[in-house]
Amino acid sequence: FHDRDGHIWFDGAMVPWREAQVHVLTHGLHYASCVFEGERIYNGVIFKSHEHAVRLRRSAELLGFDIPYSVAEIEAAKVEVCRAAGLTNGYLRPVAWRGSEMMGVAAQKNRIHLAVACWEWPSYFSAEARMQGIDLEIARWRRPAPDTAPTESKAAGLYMICTISKHEAEQNGRQDALMLDYRGFVAEATGANFFMVKDGVVHTPIPDCFLNGITRQTIIDLARRRGLTVLERHFTLDEVQGADEVFLTGSAAEVTPVRRIGDWTFIPGAVCRAMIGDYSDLVNGRMAAVAAE
Ligand code: PMP
Repeated sequence: FHDRDGHIWFDGAMVPWREAQVHVLTHGLHYASCVFEGERIYNGVIFKSHEHAVRLRRSAELLGFDIPYSVAEIEAAKVEVCRAAGLTNGYLRPVAWRGSEMMGVAAQKNRIHLAVACWEWPSYFSAEARMQGIDLEIARWRRPAPDTAPTESKAAGLYMICTISKHEAEQNGRQDALMLDYRGFVAEATGANFFMVKDGVVHTPIPDCFLNGITRQTIIDLARRRGLTVLERHFTLDEVQGADEVFLTGSAAEVTPVRRIGDWTFIPGAVCRAMIGDYSDLVNGRMAAVAAE
């Protein structure tokens, strides 16, 4: 992904894409002192840009470092990089990390860097997979307890579990993995939150050891606006077996129906369709923002 034209916002400057490099002794690379965001721009408007900037700074704080740019400066950097690329519909990747001044676990004085890249990324899953619903494998790896890792942080280190799980799922012909948490409750997919619908009621796990996705919160609001009951609760896999519909939510994945989990099959139905439509209307400015947000 490094070999392409364009520019990346890097520590306050617009740098040619191929020159946006870091040193191999970067602390973020060795010790995962790195946090990031994933967000989308729709029709020239970055959806919930403020919320993503706040979360980026908060993620860093949880790892003990302070990004040397304010929320407003991060938001401005995102606008600048999209403008430079002429991008009105696409994906943004802000990333912050500890630099390479000192080597070792401790690196209190290392410079904190911030970069923002953007590119066209129409769909996280292929269009075909999205229409039919995707297939999930149940991951061997679990989301850790909140006293084992800073699970509220969108920290690069926590994605080790996601990458190995997703790779194993792909090797078995599935598109993604569904991870349980340290207690055995259903948690999330490797880059998206989990929802199921049973008898017209929407259920989603309590995000007490994984990301409370911005899309997840948006979908809960949109579902309630439609008069649907949404229950945030702990549940195990055997409850998922009897679900009428299952879908994932995320900034990249948007609303993606699920067709298969292990040996169980699901058919995307009315709630999936409604949430795909409402989310699309909201992010594209065809629906007013939810008042409570
Ligand atoms: N969980 C994980 C592991 C993710 O990577 C993401 C994507 N950021 C989400 C959930 C959904 O978060 P959001 O809706 O804020 O994109």
